[in-house]
Parts: sequence; C-alpha cells; structure tokens
Amino acid sequence: MPHKIFIYNTLARKKEQFEPLVPGHVGLYVCGPTVYGDPHLGHARPGVVYDVFVRLLKDLGYKVRYVRNITDVGHLESDADEGEDKIAKKARLEKLEPMEIVQHYTIRYHKAMEQLNTLPPSIEPRASGHITEQIAMVQQILDAGVAYEVNGSVYFDIDAYNKKHNYGVLSGRILEDLQVQTRDLEGSEDKRSPYDFALWKKADPEHIMRWPSPWGEGFPGWHLECSVMSSKYLGEVFDIHGGGMDLLFPHHECELAQNTVTRGKDSIRYWMHNNLITINGQKMGKSLGNFITLEEVFSGNHKLLSQAFHPMTVRFFILQAHYRGPLDFSDQALVAAGTGLKRLFRGYDQLQKIKTDAKALPAELMEKAEQRIYKALCDDLNTPIALAELFQVVSWIHTAAQSGKAIAPVDKETATRLYERVVHGILGLQEETDQNQMPVVEGLVDMVLDFRTRAREEKDWSTSDFIRDKLSHLGIEIKDTPQGTEWEM
Ligand code: ZN
Repeated sequence: MPHKIFIYNTLARKKEQFEPLVPGHVGLYVCGPTVYGDPHLGHARPGVVYDVFVRLLKDLGYKVRYVRNITDVGHLESDADEGEDKIAKKARLEKLEPMEIVQHYTIRYHKAMEQLNTLPPSIEPRASGHITEQIAMVQQILDAGVAYEVNGSVYFDIDAYNKKHNYGVLSGRILEDLQVQTRDLEGSEDKRSPYDFALWKKADPEHIMRWPSPWGEGFPGWHLECSVMSSKYLGEVFDIHGGGMDLLFPHHECELAQNTVTRGKDSIRYWMHNNLITINGQKMGKSLGNFITLEEVFSGNHKLLSQAFHPMTVRFFILQAHYRGPLDFSDQALVAAGTGLKRLFRGYDQLQKIKTDAKALPAELMEKAEQRIYKALCDDLNTPIALAELFQVVSWIHTAAQSGKAIAPVDKETATRLYERVVHGILGLQEETDQNQMPVVEGLVDMVLDFRTRAREEKDWSTSDFIRDKLSHLGIEIKDTPQGTEWEM
C-alpha cells in the first residue's frame, strides 16, 4: 500500500492522513436509509460515494468491513423526538404491517443500489434486530448518570454530559443556540431540557412496534441503533463513520455523545460526511414539488426530466463532483453527464484498435497519468480531479487513433489498466446497456449456443471451444450441465 490516504475528518475540521487501527484492515460504518419510501436521489449520493471509497480501499489492498444499517424502527417524524414513527405511520396509512413496509422498501432500495452498480455492504444490520443490545446501552448510559427515566421513557441528559464533555463538538452547534431554536418547539413534556434526546420511548397504546424493557413497553430512540450496531460489528473503537451532512445534527451528534459515555471519547476515529444533492438549485423536498425517485430518473417519468437516464449516467454525474461539494441536479446536467460518459467509453473502444510497436516512444503523459489519478483518489476521494486526468488520457487515445500510428506497448498496457482498475474497478462505471435490447441479446446468445450444441454433437470440439472463448471475451460465461448449456453475462 504505497499510497497515503487523506480524509477530511469532520470532527477535526481538517484533512488528516488516514491510519487504520489494524494495519491493512478498515472498519467503515455508514448510516443507511430509513425504509419508508421509494429510494430517491438523496440515497444515490452516499450510496455511490461510499461505494467508490470502499472500492478504492480494496484496490489498494485493504480488507474492508463495510457496515451499513437499515433503520426499521425508532425514526420519528420530528428531530425533537415528537410525532409518529415514520414506518408505523406509512403502515397505518397503507393498512399494512410495519414489517411489510420495511420489506417492500428495502427491496426497492437494494434494487436501486444494484442498478447504480454499488457493491453490497459486508453487513447490513437492522435496528429491530438489535433491541436487546440497545436496551443494554440505555442501561449503561443510565448507570453512568447521563440519562434519566420519566414515565417509561429514558432521555439523554445533556447538562450532565456537558459537565465532562461538549455536546455540539461534531456539528459545531453551540448549546445556547440550540436552546433558542428549541424553545419554541413543542418539546416533550417529560424532558428536563428541550435539547435532551430520547434513548427509549414509551409506546402509546396504539403504537404497534413495541418491546418489553426495564422501563416498560416501548421502542428505542433513532440515534441509539447506530452506536449499538457500529460497535457490535466493528469494535468499541473503529476507523471511519460516514453519512450525509443532513445526519450531522442531531443524529451523529447524539451518536457521538452516546459513544463517548459508553465507549470512550475517541471511539470513532474519522467522521466523513457527503454533501447533499440540490435540484435546480433548491433543496429536494416533497412540499417543493421537486422530489425525484430513482425509478423516475431511470424511466424519465417526471415533469422535470426530458428523457430516461441510465443509472450509469447518474453514477457518473455524482462522481463529477467532489463528495463534500455541492451537486446540483438538473435535466441539462444529466444530459451533459451522459455525453461525458460516452466519450470516456469511446476512448476504450478506440484503445482496443490501436496497434503497438516496441520501437514507439512511451508518451510522457501516460507515464504520469496513473500516479496522478491515484493521488487524486487518495486525496480525500477527489473524483473530479481523477476524472479530469482520465479525460486527458482519453484525448491522448483519440489523437493516437486519429494519427493511425502505433503506440508503445507500455502505454497501451497503462491505458488498459486504467480502464480496468480505475474506470471499471474503483469508479464502478460500466458502458450503458439498453435494457430494451436485452431480449435481442438473449435471442442471439441462444442462437449461437444452438450452433455450439450442433458442433458438439458432431464432435467438432475446436468450433465448440472457439464459440465458448468468443462468448467469454464478450463477458458471457457458459456452463454445460446435464440439462443443457446455461449462460450468464
Ligand atoms: Zn445512523
């Protein structure tokens, strides 16, 4: 691992060199979705950003344990611990079991993430599967004297916490400001201070998702699950915690406070936050009428879109911006991203056709390109710089292809490796395939396999092998079984 990795650590408010706790191993926890609605653009950015980060770490030789949770209980409508549970509300409105809602939207989320070519996390724990551990952590915080019980609910006591620690240290919020902000809100009657937050909430009689606890029947507060599940799967001290900037306050601030009491103040070593996507310069929101689900983007079925956009275009669009920078979504920006992606892959097609000559001189640009690209990626995941460097290579390929001259073998090797390791491997970009063409592709493959079967029946092994190898070259793998030949691409 010769590359030094730098990460902007939100807690330290500066870029720091990343040193894993255990050499060669990285533990990463990312806050996943609350599954009560269709996956939308807001899910795409963290999905893609942390996927590229994990792919980069793996490419550099690290073993990565990537934990991303599913919130299926405890996320209330308001950050002030008020309102209904988001999932329970959806279940009530649609007359379904809460776990039907969870299952339905988890499947849709997974499908969208797969379409965006993100690799699944190593572990995907659910809040409802960790109630015992959450109750244990509430007890630990009570035992430490930093929480109190009122009428079957347990609240984190910020005043007690602030005697030794500093609530607000991660998000930069100052308690006095919070007091002003929360004074007018209709806070819970039970709380000693409006800015205390719920660790455990007593379940009202009509509340469906409820579990027995030492404080009566109830359910965990939203922030608790991430403290519990991150330390369960990554250890009481772990490397990196990621998530969207919208989670910085109160979710991550509360998580850090809980961890500080139970795991020590340095339990999370680096905090990474991705910025959010805006739409035509505005925050995305249902009330603003600019809410776009990923399905609508992929089908083009939305009033703000002129056409359907391939998931790879969306992935490329996200990578064109630095993950901490703003990213404004518009129809125009996506059209431009689609053009850029096509140019990137046209370079790959041209590269295949360029001849090499051992006597040709290696190009200076190509000597440095690989190093520059890795440097950019390791510098706080600077994908726009890495892409700009890649497009220099694309231009060079284009010029070489136009000239008709042969290139040095080393240059072709480098360019090929850049496509395979960086474009496909780390950035996870693939050439767009038109799903409408799939029936045609399937028909053609079946036809070719019929020819192969005939060749085998005639014991024409060379033709049979030739067909298998050619298909394999196209990414189509075949398997001969007693029932016939199976294939997948
Ligand atoms: Zn979380």
